[in-house]
Amino acid sequence: MARLPILHYPDSRLCKVATPVETVDNDIRTLVNNMLETMYAAPGIGLAATQVNVQKRIIVMDVSEQKNQPLVFINPTLIECEGSIESEEGCLSVPGICETVRRFNRVRVTALDVNSKSVEIDASGLLAVCIQHEMDHLDGKLFVDYLSALKRDHIRKKLEKQTRSVSRIKLSS
Ligand code: ZN
Repeated sequence: MARLPILHYPDSRLCKVATPVETVDNDIRTLVNNMLETMYAAPGIGLAATQVNVQKRIIVMDVSEQKNQPLVFINPTLIECEGSIESEEGCLSVPGICETVRRFNRVRVTALDVNSKSVEIDASGLLAVCIQHEMDHLDGKLFVDYLSALKRDHIRKKLEKQTRSVSRIKLSS
């Protein structure tokens, strides 16, 4: 297993739309394992392939307290959505930022698992929010896209400043 570098907003590669996985083979399973390791190490509760610069429709999550219930959805599709919930969201690609976002409170999802078996899951609350957040990544969308242009601009400038100071530190060492 290996940890993968995570792209940071406003990297334009985060805006790419991912394509469906055609065959769930060993390469995909290796990618999934690396994504899980990267997510747990970050630490985070979800990661989309887009965030590690792979444009394939794969998301991994674990919203359990003990971090022992990994979920892997390949080619996920929302087939039912209802209700609404507002919660504070953060993102491994938008480090240090937390903002309130409104989403569906309950979703039903179909996807393939790592054995290419079709699965269907009903989720609500945190898991439902996480699924929608990660699926947005596959369509090149970030949670900051739900905020006002003013707020988004402020976040972008803040992160660009952070990136610049990190590169300066790297250059001088
Ligand atoms: Zn995210």
